[in-house]
Amino acid sequence: MPDSGTHYRGRFAPSPTGPLHLGSLIAALASFLDARHCGGHWLLRMEDLDPPREQAGAAADILHSLRCHGLHWDGDVLYQSARTAAYEAALDRLAQGGHLFHCDCTRAALGPDGSCQRHCRDRSDAIAAPYAIRTAVPAGCEIQFSDRLQGTQRAALGATGPDFVVKRKDGLYAYQLAVVVDDAEQGITHVVRGSDLLDSTPRQIFLQQLLGYNTPQYCHLPVITTRQGQKFSKQNLAPALVNEDAVHNLRHALRFLRQSEPPAELDSVDQVVAHATAHWALQRVPAVAAIAAATLGLET
Ligand code: GLU
Repeated sequence: MPDSGTHYRGRFAPSPTGPLHLGSLIAALASFLDARHCGGHWLLRMEDLDPPREQAGAAADILHSLRCHGLHWDGDVLYQSARTAAYEAALDRLAQGGHLFHCDCTRAALGPDGSCQRHCRDRSDAIAAPYAIRTAVPAGCEIQFSDRLQGTQRAALGATGPDFVVKRKDGLYAYQLAVVVDDAEQGITHVVRGSDLLDSTPRQIFLQQLLGYNTPQYCHLPVITTRQGQKFSKQNLAPALVNEDAVHNLRHALRFLRQSEPPAELDSVDQVVAHATAHWALQRVPAVAAIAAATLGLET
């Protein structure tokens, strides 16, 4: 059961790489319902950190779709593209603590998991730009947390997430750094998102600990997959939601989350969202990593 509503601050943090699709609606809706059910706040953050991956107009499209689906957020949208000073300040603090090093490895020199194989961390020569900035993860570092849906998680971060990048060679801030700084800035107490991010969470908790931030409670939802078992995404051309079909889309998302069906006579977006908020039950969401859309008769 989440903390009392006065303390609960949840969020949805889309990347503007394309329009909202059923997969992203499920994450948005579950995070919204979990927050609103207990009277908490629900904030919005646009993760527009990576211009080459972005699609013109997608940020505005996503906000419009959320409104059409009755998912109204509190306060102003936080745009990561405007947060450079905060990310630099966090990097300064990490550097002062001796937690960062420069790495000039080319892509071909990196390990299959993107790790630095050439021991840049131990080099004493000055490394010239361009370089990535990595955080030094101690060899035996283990992170443990209790996911509200997926249960106890343990990661040997020293082995599985070694020395990960916090600022890329091309000058862009890494998602792992930005998400941690912004979850802290927005005072987020509860993160509800797709299980595709479950293996990022230990890296985020590690950075929270280095920066002295609180760790939110995490809840990783099953992701919706295609018949071939791929996550719905812009890459596999998951269809954009039709905003005029918002009631139908919300009913699909609720069925995916195994929530009680709003009665058929509820035919407006606001009625369906209000019903779903009142009846939200996280324990009904299957504690699995993925569910194929076809098994629920949801393939569009
Ligand atoms: N921006 C990420 C995405 O769209 C989500 C990040 C998060 O929820 O932590 O997949």
